[in-house]
Amino acid sequence: MQSGVLILGLEGKVALVFGVASEDSIAWAICQRLAQAGCKLYLGYQKRFMSRIFQLKDKLPEISGFYPLDVGSDITTAEFFTEFSKENPDLKVDIMVHAIGFAPRECFDRHILFVDDDAINTAITISANSLQRIMRHAMPYLNNNSSTITLTYAASTRYVPNYGVMSIAKAALESWTRELACQLGPEGHRLNAISSGPIKTIAAGGIPGFDKILDHVEENSPLRRNVNQDDVAGCTVWLASNLSSGVTGQCIHVDAGYSSTMVPGSIMGDK
Ligand code: NAD
Repeated sequence: MQSGVLILGLEGKVALVFGVASEDSIAWAICQRLAQAGCKLYLGYQKRFMSRIFQLKDKLPEISGFYPLDVGSDITTAEFFTEFSKENPDLKVDIMVHAIGFAPRECFDRHILFVDDDAINTAITISANSLQRIMRHAMPYLNNNSSTITLTYAASTRYVPNYGVMSIAKAALESWTRELACQLGPEGHRLNAISSGPIKTIAAGGIPGFDKILDHVEENSPLRRNVNQDDVAGCTVWLASNLSSGVTGQCIHVDAGYSSTMVPGSIMGDK
């Protein structure tokens, strides 16, 4: 009988993880699970979170390098890969995790009719188009049969109060995932999105009324709970591994089943 780590086939694989900002980040749980599975980790971090990243790296010896990254600009994204390849010549990447999202405040709390173009463009550039930007710069460093995982939210296809422009960005991100999966699939590269249920993180803190959404999901999801970072990390490791070798271009919901419901049982008095 093979051990769990051997079955995953991730021992010695190289993973680039984008989107760790704190210990609450979904990407941080993903780093921990990928490390347990035997991966070598390289992080791309936003400069404003540098001191936290420096504290976190000591907790995970599998982090072999970390470099600043701002996906808002093509130049700084290119610089990340230049730095990465300079310090790690000949190293090829097997796994990428895109856990990046941002929208200016007005995208959440201004009436959707009156959000400025600049704010909309920022939200979509950072939260959606950055997947294409990162993939483009990563291509020279990717091994064949690479697996890239991005994180989305079900507001991409259904209305969620106060999610505003971010819903449009997530719809675009899911389209990028399908488009890139189809165009890069012939070379063996896989891309998938995980649609996570709500989890309290720095990014989620920007959404007005987020606690009410958490309460609602806990009461009405089939599993009668919210998911946590580790639930998402488990699915990410599966998508990174050979166990999911036939899966690409998909959006997989890790949300305690909430997205499978329409009318909650609670209206009939179900517990
Ligand atoms: P988080 O705040 O911990 O992570 C967001 C990350 O995006 C941070 O690391 C931040 O540095 C990075 N980022 C923002 N702008 C950037 C830029 N210009 N360049 C580079 N990096 C940038 O929050 P999180 O909830 O872990 O978010 C990770 C992903 O998960 C996001 O895409 C988010 O939309 C998605 N998601 C979160 C939830 C949730 O409820 N928390 C649910 C579904 C999907």
